[in-house]
Formats: sequence, structure tokens, C-alpha cells
Amino acid sequence: MSYGVRLMRARIPKVCVAVTGNDGVELVQKAEALVRDDRLLEFRLDYLKNPASALPRIKRFLDFHPEVVVIATCRRAVNGGKFRGSAASELDLLMKAAAAGCQLVDVELETAESLKTAEMDKLRQCVAVLLSYHDFKGTKKLDETFARMKAIPAEFYKVVTTATSLHDNVLMMKFLQTNRDQYSLIGLCMGEQGIISRVLGVRAGSVFTFGSSGVGEETAPGQVTARELRETYRIDMVDAATKVYGVAGDPVSHSLSPVMMNSAFRRENVNAVYVALHAKKLTDLLACVQGIPIHGLSVTMPYKQDIVSELDNSDQPTQKTGACNTVVRAQDGRLYGFNTDVYGVVAPLEQRMNLQGASVLVLGAGGAARAAVFGLKARGAEVYILNRTAATAQKLARQAQAKTVKRTDLKKQHFDAIINATPLGMGTSKQSPLEEKELKELKAKYLFDLVYNPLETRLMKMAQAAGMQVISGVEMFVQQGAHQFEIWTGKPAPVAEMQYVVNRELQTRQAQESAGSNGSSSGKAAAKKPAKKK
Ligand code: NAP
Repeated sequence: MSYGVRLMRARIPKVCVAVTGNDGVELVQKAEALVRDDRLLEFRLDYLKNPASALPRIKRFLDFHPEVVVIATCRRAVNGGKFRGSAASELDLLMKAAAAGCQLVDVELETAESLKTAEMDKLRQCVAVLLSYHDFKGTKKLDETFARMKAIPAEFYKVVTTATSLHDNVLMMKFLQTNRDQYSLIGLCMGEQGIISRVLGVRAGSVFTFGSSGVGEETAPGQVTARELRETYRIDMVDAATKVYGVAGDPVSHSLSPVMMNSAFRRENVNAVYVALHAKKLTDLLACVQGIPIHGLSVTMPYKQDIVSELDNSDQPTQKTGACNTVVRAQDGRLYGFNTDVYGVVAPLEQRMNLQGASVLVLGAGGAARAAVFGLKARGAEVYILNRTAATAQKLARQAQAKTVKRTDLKKQHFDAIINATPLGMGTSKQSPLEEKELKELKAKYLFDLVYNPLETRLMKMAQAAGMQVISGVEMFVQQGAHQFEIWTGKPAPVAEMQYVVNRELQTRQAQESAGSNGSSSGKAAAKKPAKKK
């Protein structure tokens, strides 16, 4: 690696923001808005209607911002870009971009192979070259492709493939780890399944990764915003020692866990990052866990039951409920399972009441209800189950030594607390598992709605009106996550911080949904910030 490249590498931050525009005015305006936070920009000249006419403006921008490193890219349509010209006219534009002050130019492998060696040499005399390869279909033949790339001298080599499984990310990480010491590499996988490589690639040796300037500004499938990379994933501190955790499920893109767990790691100064693992098959997930390797998993639907048979050992709540939501991978690759959903239901109630001998009504008999019923029984509560399908309630009652109750018999019974473990009331649905009249008759002290989106369900509003104290499903979500944090790190979890970020995120999402836009963050102001840690 030459001295010049080493110097440039030292200047380059870990995120490159792709900037597009219809013309030079728009492109430079967007760049001006970014430079305060982002010092590495990719100017997509191929998105401009007339790339050559934008160059004087780009020159003025670079003269004014010597602190910024700009990669000029003019990808041809045959290679997945928007430029309709020939390889020779791409080369000509890149030369002019270098003359305008761009410090790096992106040349696709196919273009470079079609040019004469002397033409590439001439380009390299003017500017540092980033030789790139894109596979828009899969992640295959990385070594063969890289052998072709290495035949063309360049300062940086960028290999971008498409992940069709989680394991494709493992292939990319291994490729980066093998070649990182000899070459300056940029490597990642596109697509939803490849999102983790945009964070973990840097850990495996990618000099930087790509982020979009905002939602809707993506230049490649699966690209996340530069802000999210910096603020949620703390990309600037990700290194080879960073431990990897993640939430695994299908679907998983709307999970609140990455926001919550990454902020907990940040608050407690844990060198760890938490990603969303969209696993379409359990076998693919397990191969990824061992291959990356991943130190711990939050397991969500539909794998909570299926993962149990893959565990080397598990805690009692997992064995009793037959469901696992937390996995620890030991250094030797063994998997240990825990069920923190049980704690998530029990802890918020225990903070308010003595569960020994308390009478609790559980609505529903699915996964969340199982966690509630077994957890409450273990604390000595008297548990009654009411479910739409009576046979499922009876089966759970038999397994947990609980009781079932008919809806028509509810008013004959006294309950200290009611738990809603059905999805009724979720999202925009105004449904409720109990009606106003029933709630008034029940006179329980607490209503715990495990549904957490929206923050306040119709059931919660009616229970409050009936004089009950309500507990939001956010508390379960936060407590199960806090217990995971403690299992993984051995440190007490920053519960107040976790609760704050989850509430803030839910408020933001609700505000965005009601505004029908993606950009609003009006909800952020409403959540109360927890006191600073001493
Ligand atoms: P699940 O396994 O699918 O069970 C759903 C339960 O709700 C079943 O007992 C089902 O009855 C009942 N149900 C479904 N639709 C119904 C309807 N239209 N009317 C009456 N009953 C209905 O789901 P789960 O994993 O237990 O999750 C249940 C809810 O708990 C979720 O939707 C989520 O909001 C919440 N949850 C919250 C957390 C948290 O951290 N706060 C964690 C997990 C779950 P049948 O047996 O008749 O199908």
C-alpha cells in the first residue's frame, strides 16, 4: 500500500454517503447539507442529466471544502448505473472529475477490462482509482472475481454482491477478513438480507461502507441512512473486537429491538452492535450465527419454538414454556437458551403487587400468554385463562396447572390483574378483547396490555375509565430486553434509557403514520428523557 493511499485511508471516515441529483445545482445543494456530518461523499454523476456541465460547480464545492473526500462515480447502465455513454466517455468524465478535485474515481471492473492498460495507467496518474464489481443477483465466486480485479492495479477494490440468504453475509465477511491486510477493500451485500453486512463489513475489514443521505435517497437495495449507521449502529466505533448481537425473525424489519439494544450498549459503553437478522429459514440463521460469529440472539416469531431443539442447554422457563427468545453462543459454538419473555411479563406486575396468591386473568393462549401463565404460576399466582379457542386454553391450563374461565362467568370471579395476551388492539385496529361493560364489572386493580403499538390501546383507555391502573406492553418489551442485556453482558441494564428510546421511537412512528410521511420526527420531543447516569 503506497504512502498516498495510507494517508487517504487515514482521512476516510467509515461511512460514505451517496449523493444524487438531477443537475449540478441539486447535487451540490445536497452535498452542502451533508458536509457538517459527512466527510466522505460519493457523487453519482450518472444520475445527472448532463454530468459534464456539473463539473465546474463540483470544483467550486471542493475548493471550498478541502476537508471533504469525494468519489466520482459514473456507472454505465450495462453495469447497473444510469450513464448511457460508452466506456471511453465514462473514462473521459472521470478524468474531468479528477481535474475538478475529486480525490477518488469509481471504475467498474467491466469498464476497466474493456480499456487499454495505458488508459487506466493514465487515469491512475491523475487520481486514486476505486475498482468496483457489482453482482445484482447473488454472492458467488468471490475469489474468482477478485482474481480478475487484482489483475488491474487500483488503490481500492470494492466488491458488492446481493445477499439471497443470511449466509451470503458470512461469505462476504470471510472474503474481507482474508484479503484485508493486503488490499484496501470495500465489501458489502445489497438487499434486505444483506443489511447486516453494511454494519459488519467494517468490522471484517471494509475500509468504509455506504449510507444514503436520507429515507428515499437510497442508491442501492438495502442501503440504510448514514445517520442510522452512525447513531443507531455507532459505525465509527465498530472494529474487529466488537461483539455482534441481533434479533432474528421473519419479518423483522420493523423490530424496535435494534434501537433499544444499541442504545443500551452505548449507554453502558459495551463494545457491541445489534443488528436485525431477516431469517427466512432456521438453518440459514444458525449457519450465520456460527459463521459471523454472532454472540447472542433475540429470537422472535416464527422461531421461538423451533429453536429449542437446536439448543445445547436451556433455562427452566424455556423448558416449561417450550419457547426461547434469548440465545447465547459460547466460544465453542454451543448455544444456550433463555426465556426472558416470562420475566418481561412478571417483572412489571411484581413491581406493583405481590403475586403470591393473587388472582390473574390471562386473555389468550398463544406464545405471550404461555410466558404469562407459566411465569405467574411460578410466582404463586392463581391464573385463569380465557381464549377464543377453548381447547387451546384448556391444554395450556393443564400444562401449567392453571384454570380456564368462560366469558359468561367472568363477573362471578374477582381478579387482581388482567393481562391481554391477544393481538386485539394492535396497530390501527380499534378492537378490544373485553368491552367497557365487562371491564366495569370486573373491577380489577391492574390491566396489563401486552400490545405496545399503539402506546395506548382502546382496552387501556377503557380500563383507565373504569378506574384500573394500566400497564403498557412497552414495559414487557423493555423488561425482556433488559434481562437479555444482563444475560449477555453481566451488567445491569439501563432500563430507563431503554424505556425512553422505545417510547420515543413508537411516538415517532405513530406521528409518521398519522402524517403519512417518513420524514417527521415530531414525536421525539414528547418522550421524557431519563436522568443522566452519574
Ligand atoms: P399468538 O401466539 O399468535 O397468540 C395469539 C392469541 O390471541 C391466541 O390465543 C389467539 O386465540 C388469540 N387471538 C388472536 N386473534 C384473536 C381474535 N381476533 N379474537 C380473539 N382472540 C384472538 O401471538 P403471541 O405471540 O402470543 O402474541 C400476542 C400479542 O402479544 C401480540 O400481538 C403482541 O401484541 C403481544 N406481545 C407483546 C410482547 C411485548 O414484549 N410486549 C411480546 C410478545 C407478544 P386462538 O387460540 O383462538 O387462535
